Amino acid sequence: MINEKVIDTHLHIEAWDNEEFNFIDCFEEYRTQSGIHSLNICALPTVQRSACNNMMCAFYKIAHPNTYAHGAFEHIFFPIREDMPKGMDLVTQYKELMEIGFDGIKMIEGKPTVHKTIGRNLNTPSLEKVYSEMEKDQTHIVFHVGDPADCWDINKTSELFIEKGWFYGDGTHSTLEELYSQAEAILKNHPNIKITFAHFYFCGENPQKLIDLFEKYPNLCVDLTPGCEMYHSFEKNREYFKDFFKKYSSRVLLGTDATFPMLTRCHTWCIDRLSRYIATSDEMMAFDDSILTGIALEGEAKENILYKNFEHRVGDKPKEINKKALSSYIEKYKHLLNPEDLEKIESLSKKYL
Ligand SMILES: [Zn+2]
Repeated sequence: MINEKVIDTHLHIEAWDNEEFNFIDCFEEYRTQSGIHSLNICALPTVQRSACNNMMCAFYKIAHPNTYAHGAFEHIFFPIREDMPKGMDLVTQYKELMEIGFDGIKMIEGKPTVHKTIGRNLNTPSLEKVYSEMEKDQTHIVFHVGDPADCWDINKTSELFIEKGWFYGDGTHSTLEELYSQAEAILKNHPNIKITFAHFYFCGENPQKLIDLFEKYPNLCVDLTPGCEMYHSFEKNREYFKDFFKKYSSRVLLGTDATFPMLTRCHTWCIDRLSRYIATSDEMMAFDDSILTGIALEGEAKENILYKNFEHRVGDKPKEINKKALSSYIEKYKHLLNPEDLEKIESLSKKYL
């Protein structure tokens, strides 16, 4: 691991425990072993688990106050409804999450599978309202829109992806162009919204698209969370991307997508690759065993990507959890949890609240 200050801005918790840890400590060994300064856990708005996942992230922050977290919306109905029951609308949910002490909002509503489930455009009126609030407050949003273009072509989609349900060319999913145009309509309506598109906005083969958006929208960033396919593009055009990352260093954040219950060694391996890609000229085996050669950025450009942009966008310290607000949130949403999850949340409440 390089000897630099690094923030991993994109991780998830998907399980209560694994053979190594309980979720409440799941990234501590990773953090200390790799010497990273801090990390940002993004709640996963996967179908009907957002509220529970938000609670888990909040407890993690109480146990480890040097941790950032982004909360997610609980949509409840699929397709999502514009007429949510009183007090369950997205603006109210957004304000609750901010009051609890989340440092931003995670949205995965633009991933084709989730987008199909929510059954509405990304700029549907209920979401539009919450974008306005977030733009006004300058709240940071980590937003997953799209997926690798190959996932729409049956001849290019890997078997593993097909197994995971990530082939989208079957006519039941939106096209990548449709997702892009909805996301870009959000930017057009809210030109100062503070969005970081995850996974380089899947533009490894089309960086000019990002350049055009960067030039238009001063608050727009992307993260470098793999997607191994984008690292193939970076390697293929190494000099081009070296210039790109230097020129747009204030627009790029670092993240691993480390997801618990994966083992610590996977996260440690990944952050080592990513930070060496930025800060050294090392040649390394990366992701799917292809070669990746570091671009050796220096000074401000390097520091921007490794940690400064995130601190600049989100804050140089994580927000503190407001226990009273978290208790109210649990009380309000606990009916959405399955009995097993509820039992765990209740015992965490006893211990921490
Ligand atoms: Zn992710």
